[in-house]
Amino acid sequence: MSDSPIRILTIDDEENIRTSFRLYLEDFDYEVIEAVDGREGLELFESMQPDLVLCDLRMPEVDGLEVLSKIREQSPDTPIIVASGTGVIGDAIEAVRRGAWNYLLKPIQNLSTLQYAIEQALERARLIKENRAYQLRLEDEVISRTEDLQQAMNDLNKTHQQIKQSEARYRSIYENLQDVYFEILTGGKIREISPSISHISNYSCDELIGKSVWKFYPRREDREQLLDELNAHGFATDYELHLRDKGGKIIPCSVNARLLPADGAQPAVICGTLRDISERKLAETHIERLAYYDALTDLPNRRLLTDRLERDLARARRHNHFGAMLFLDLDRFKNINDSLGHHVGDALLQEVAKRLTSDLRLEDTVSRLGGDEFIMLLADMGDEASTAASRTQAKAEQVQVNLSRPYKVLGHDLHITPSIGAAIFPSDDDPDEDSNDILRHADTAMYRAKDDGRDAIRFFLPSMQAAADQRLGIEKDLRFALERNEMTLFYQPQVNSEGRIIGAETLLRWCHPEKGYISPAKFIPVAEATGQILPIGLWVLEMSCRQLKQWCDLGLSVDHLAVNVSPRQFRQPSFINQVHEVLEQTGADALQLGLELTEGMVIDNISDTIDKMQALKQIGIKLSIDDFGTGYSSLAYLKRLPLDIIKIDQSFVRDIQTDENDAAIVETIISMAHHLDLKVIAEGVETEFEFDFLNQRKCACFQGYYFSRPISASEFTSMLKADRSLPLPKQE
Ligand code: C2E
Ligand code: CA
Ligand code: CA
Repeated sequence: MSDSPIRILTIDDEENIRTSFRLYLEDFDYEVIEAVDGREGLELFESMQPDLVLCDLRMPEVDGLEVLSKIREQSPDTPIIVASGTGVIGDAIEAVRRGAWNYLLKPIQNLSTLQYAIEQALERARLIKENRAYQLRLEDEVISRTEDLQQAMNDLNKTHQQIKQSEARYRSIYENLQDVYFEILTGGKIREISPSISHISNYSCDELIGKSVWKFYPRREDREQLLDELNAHGFATDYELHLRDKGGKIIPCSVNARLLPADGAQPAVICGTLRDISERKLAETHIERLAYYDALTDLPNRRLLTDRLERDLARARRHNHFGAMLFLDLDRFKNINDSLGHHVGDALLQEVAKRLTSDLRLEDTVSRLGGDEFIMLLADMGDEASTAASRTQAKAEQVQVNLSRPYKVLGHDLHITPSIGAAIFPSDDDPDEDSNDILRHADTAMYRAKDDGRDAIRFFLPSMQAAADQRLGIEKDLRFALERNEMTLFYQPQVNSEGRIIGAETLLRWCHPEKGYISPAKFIPVAEATGQILPIGLWVLEMSCRQLKQWCDLGLSVDHLAVNVSPRQFRQPSFINQVHEVLEQTGADALQLGLELTEGMVIDNISDTIDKMQALKQIGIKLSIDDFGTGYSSLAYLKRLPLDIIKIDQSFVRDIQTDENDAAIVETIISMAHHLDLKVIAEGVETEFEFDFLNQRKCACFQGYYFSRPISASEFTSMLKADRSLPLPKQE
């Protein structure tokens, strides 16, 4: 409450009442304002703002009830006390309904009643006001609290929103991560793996989570190595491994992983990321291609050629065979480049590369050194240098023909020839020869081909050149040798320890119309390589059997005629049938026929060999191993073969006198053969010393110049007819 006096407005049209009220109330320190009627009362209420109103009901102009309504409307908390002269109860009810707080009946006998009513009303007003203030404060409080709460709620919502957004962001990153995030128990069980695993492996997360990782990480060594690495360092960085996708395809991946050791109830876990590096690997392959291949032709470049050459050289040395290199240079290529432009030249080189690779064996290499220089590396061209030379010559000729065919390049008709230099490796006389030497030799040979007028093939070594030339000549002429009747058979007698002829070996002779006599040692390998040995071998067998039959018909005794059989001939599935047919057609006695096989051919496919030998033996044919001791023969396998005779190779016989080792070997072979119940024939017996040595060691049969050179059929027939004992030289 303020300190200013309480102001009371009294509205009454009777002046004496107003005065009596004022005089009375001023004694109680109230300030009293008087209004003479309702209208003035309302005006003063508005301007003076009294704390309490005393109001009459019956007044002119605006009556008391209306005043009540208006004041109530304006200020519902201001107490109004009605003092009225009407004792009508309806007036009192109406007054209270319109807002009167109290109703006093005039004339007021005891003014203290008025004072009491005023005090009461003021107290009530004060309470109402206080209550209202409290209410307001409370409301303010509620509002402010509500606002705070709202603020807090907003803040919370915002945070929640932010969390949600960031969670969504992380999830989207996680889900769209190209790398795969994983958590794997050390036992191999997948605890967590991000969805991108499906891009890499085609497995969905659900197919993997809770399963063993080994399903798509199959290589055991890989896994163990990774575990070792993790155990040793706790982490692995850019670790490369191979996964297997759902379809079984192997995918190269890189892993960054960390090992989280077991912690209380938490088991040890490997967690990390995984990335598909197929593309990186492809790029690496691409880079490797650039490093090892010629960009224009896609052929191996010099670096890769050198690698392969070194490999081939080492292999050739190890396996005792020969490889070859062809160095090709295109004749007058520069003219094409200069006149038609580099793009035509380049296209031509690509075409040449295509032709060079068109009929290549898997083990061979074609390379472009640069410019118009190409290299052909030919592996395993044979066990003998001369064979290799002739094969190389044949191959070079084929390449020459192939490259010389017309070209259609970017609308131009072109023709080009190669100059080819050839080198055979390893060379016999240079054990230190390396890849550079071989390249240089082939290069030198190529320049020789250029010097000789281009479009030619030249070998580095004159001896190879000669061998190549000769063998090519033989190969060509051999095709017609049989039909031109250039082949004959010679016979070399075989004798017992008394010098009596007990048999012979058939030896083929070729009388070339220009070159004269050509040794079988030269042409048999060529015939073997080209396949011509098949008709030739069959012819030898036929002629030998016909000869046997003739001698038989003449009453001449030949216990044994041995025919050489070449490996290719023996391997024919029809070989046994051929022998049967020949025997039948010629009427020769199978018991007198012998076949000489070599060690190499019985070792290849031994079970087929044994079957065939058994079939031959069954009809009485004698089987011998030729050149015994030069091959791989071991006692163990000899025992398995249905053999009759061993022929000691002439190289041992020749050295009996000079080489103690060879003497010992011969002794051993003889005693071993006796032990196995095999007959021994010594080949190449040239001297009395050799004969005596062998004879003392119980060798039963002999063959060699000491007794007789190979002789013609008619000579041998005469010899048989004379029935003389050999060696002839002794008796002359
Ligand atoms: P081979 O089967 O070891 O024949 C023995 C070779 O030694 C023959 O050479 C023979 O003339 C020669 N020779 C015999 N005695 C002596 C001697 O005392 N001293 C010396 N230095 N040499 C002697 P040839 O006739 O030149 O035959 C060479 C090789 O050709 C034969 O070796 C054989 O492997 C093969 N050959 C010969 N004729 C045929 C045939 O009809 N078919 C097949 N597949 N190969 C044959
Ligand atoms: Ca022989
Ligand atoms: Ca022999």
